[in-house]
Amino acid sequence: MYFIYDDHFLKHDNGISHPENPERLKYIKRAADSLEYRGLIEYISPGPAGKKQIEMVHDSSYINRVEELSARGGLSFLDMDTGVSRHTYSCALLAAGGCMDGLDLIFSENSRYKKFFLACRPPGHHAFPAGGSGFCIFNNAALGAKYALEHYGLKRIVIVDLDAHHGNGTQDIFYEDSRVFYISFHQYPHYPGTGAADERGSGKGKGFNLNLPFAPGTGEPDYLAALIEIVIPLLDDYRPELVMVSAGYDSHVSDSMSSLELAEDSYRRIMASLSHISRKYCRERMAIVLEGGYEYRSTADSTVSTVMGCLEDNSFKSASDLEKYFGIDDSGKGRVKNRTLLDRTAKELGLKQ
Ligand SMILES: [Zn+2]
Repeated sequence: MYFIYDDHFLKHDNGISHPENPERLKYIKRAADSLEYRGLIEYISPGPAGKKQIEMVHDSSYINRVEELSARGGLSFLDMDTGVSRHTYSCALLAAGGCMDGLDLIFSENSRYKKFFLACRPPGHHAFPAGGSGFCIFNNAALGAKYALEHYGLKRIVIVDLDAHHGNGTQDIFYEDSRVFYISFHQYPHYPGTGAADERGSGKGKGFNLNLPFAPGTGEPDYLAALIEIVIPLLDDYRPELVMVSAGYDSHVSDSMSSLELAEDSYRRIMASLSHISRKYCRERMAIVLEGGYEYRSTADSTVSTVMGCLEDNSFKSASDLEKYFGIDDSGKGRVKNRTLLDRTAKELGLKQ
């Protein structure tokens, strides 16, 4: 797949001893180099988005504010922990531009690959139209989805958010929009406080927002059960034209930003499941955008697993084949922690009696 990266992303600075720092990407880049060596990825250097493109999601007054704070230099804060410094604006434009460049690549008829991974900073899923928060400046995934709607005339896009924190910005942007189905797996209750199971969208977007709020200590069995019992059946019905993934690796057991317990191999299985949807409905097109992930080693290893999961030749045809494919037995099913939540959600969505 295409692997979109630029050293410029290392220049965004949140201040000293901040968890969202350039080391994250240095580790990811080193791990990606081994994928390139094996011929599994092709590096692409992105170009910046224009201000007009950022306005597809964000208010011009907010965009100007980030630009001005960056130009001023020094370190300012949008909230308690979201820094803006000299290179923040240019990095944020490059991150958003990277998502749009990736889409242009995978939508071009003679493209070598149909999937891309965008390894960028700053992340995006906590960014709202009028302001950034939670380390996020511009909402890269939301901007990519808007771009695909407007530029490629898509009508149905799914964004699956694997970050340990609820993507409140992304949910907010598409809450009344049936063209973008936002599905989030996250720890709950946890920062930022949103993401309850009953937040299902409103107006035209009613039924096109799904939260899977997991208890602390939740690991892979629940993610796979939710995919098999809920997410894949819903997407079989929705038939998305593009799968987007907000790839946050702070759900890894080693990451101190959450109490979720995914292993790096869990990301391979989750991504293979989502890749199956892209194969079935999206001509294999898939856009993966980095969000959180603060333990350097597990974030880099999980990035590799993400790429490997997408490349896995999935022989399964339906959600029920997944159990066999991943060798899920009764003990795996027995380890599902949020059984009540999954059963209730499936029932409310008409997927289970
Ligand atoms: Zn996060």
